[in-house]
Amino acid sequence: MLKIENLHAEVDGKPILKGLSLTVNAGEVHAIMGPNGAGKSTLGYVLGGRPGYEVTEGSVMFDGQDLLALEPHERAAAGLFLGFQYPVEIPGVSNVQFLREALNAQRKGRGEAALSGAEFLKLARAQADALAMPQDMLKRPVNVGFSGGEKKRNEMVQMGIIGPRLAILDETDSGLDIDALRVVGDGINRIMRGEDKAVLLITHYQRLLDYVKPDFVHVLADGRIARSGGAELAHELEREGYGAVAA
Ligand code: ADP
Ligand code: MG
Ligand code: MG
Repeated sequence: MLKIENLHAEVDGKPILKGLSLTVNAGEVHAIMGPNGAGKSTLGYVLGGRPGYEVTEGSVMFDGQDLLALEPHERAAAGLFLGFQYPVEIPGVSNVQFLREALNAQRKGRGEAALSGAEFLKLARAQADALAMPQDMLKRPVNVGFSGGEKKRNEMVQMGIIGPRLAILDETDSGLDIDALRVVGDGINRIMRGEDKAVLLITHYQRLLDYVKPDFVHVLADGRIARSGGAELAHELEREGYGAVAA
């Protein structure tokens, strides 16, 4: 599904990704761990197509097409979803307006009819319920005044409505209490576990991986994958720290 080869990227002329290679097959969950400043969020931004993140070398293929040649909205329409480490607040635009526009733009791209307001609301309410998010939060401006945990939960509601093929989730567990962590973990499993889907789960902590079992764990250090292993690698990192494991 995703094939990243020798990816080099820089921000403001500063090299951050320095030869990163990673292959993700359909049906797999890959955890990306690593020290602060390693380039984890940069990887997410580069894959999502954020302006200012310049690829200087390497390639990224998504379902056999050149991902880097696509505009951000085309990447989304192709099935890519990026959950932000710091979700953005959008004053003046309600959650339902925002998500209905996003979903219908994608449906249009696939030649499917737009959902009516009533059809969309039914879908949105079901997803909010599944994430134990109060329904009135659907009507509020996107993320405005939401707590850190509520923003993360709201991102899972967005993901459930959009239904991506590949989700890149950047520290979705940060700011969550124990109960919210389980709800969000269950949400990721429910929405993204399947033969034709895959997840890149960026996290600092093993605890989310107790709920969302990774098939592979990678350590990103200094802009490349320093080590890869199975779920046990996350436990080793928790015990011994990045320094010992990725050296
Ligand atoms: P991680 O998510 O692994 O903690 P990031 O991808 O956020 O790391 O950042 C990687 C490195 O890139 C850090 O050293 C960070 O300071 C630097 N960086 C990120 N964005 C910018 C920017 N806009 N200008 C300069 N340096 C940046
Ligand atoms: Mg960080
Ligand atoms: Mg980060």
